[in-house]
Amino acid sequence: MRTMLVRVKDTFDLNPERIIADTAYGSGPMLGWLVDRKIAPHIPVIDKAGRTDGTWSRADFEWDAENNQYICPEGEALKQFRRNYSDPDRGPTGKGVAKYQALKLTCQACPSKPKCCPNADARKITREEHEDARQVARDIAKTDQYAVSMRLRKKVEMLFAHLKRILGLGRLRLRGPNGANDEFLLAATAQILRKLAKIFPAPQQMRNA
Ligand code: SF4
Repeated sequence: MRTMLVRVKDTFDLNPERIIADTAYGSGPMLGWLVDRKIAPHIPVIDKAGRTDGTWSRADFEWDAENNQYICPEGEALKQFRRNYSDPDRGPTGKGVAKYQALKLTCQACPSKPKCCPNADARKITREEHEDARQVARDIAKTDQYAVSMRLRKKVEMLFAHLKRILGLGRLRLRGPNGANDEFLLAATAQILRKLAKIFPAPQQMRNA
């Protein structure tokens, strides 16, 4: 995807406003790359932070960017650093993944501990690199425009599935990029003709009385 977008930009000076894709494209680095270029990712986020045991997952915690901390559902702060380091290179920087932790004493006295961190002294949360971009994608996923995008994506995917299964393009017969281009062009033309035939059916022959 990156190669195609760079080529389109270099060749036609086109920068799409948004990209619609499936979860395979929802990794942090991919989303970060798109958001850096002001391309809205209409892509489901790959999120492995979800929990299956019924306890609160990262999505239940609010991100407070200004203070570089998460706020838990009980309103307590989970911080990366508990002290100010005069030298920014000191302290647990954890490049790539940052860890945030609540105070042990606070969690021990918290009534929601069984829902939050039943097996730990205090709740910890990790924040991956590109989390801001991931949040952009999550926020987009709540919009009406995203629902439209997903419908469009399915429409296109159905066409590709049809090309592969019905028109037999799972394997190409002609060799090289030109051969592939010819085959795809013919197949796409056949698809469009098929669609047109459905929209404008041939006039019925009048039967002789
Ligand atoms: S256990 Fe700790 S982090 Fe979890 S809700 Fe309570 S105070 Fe907040």
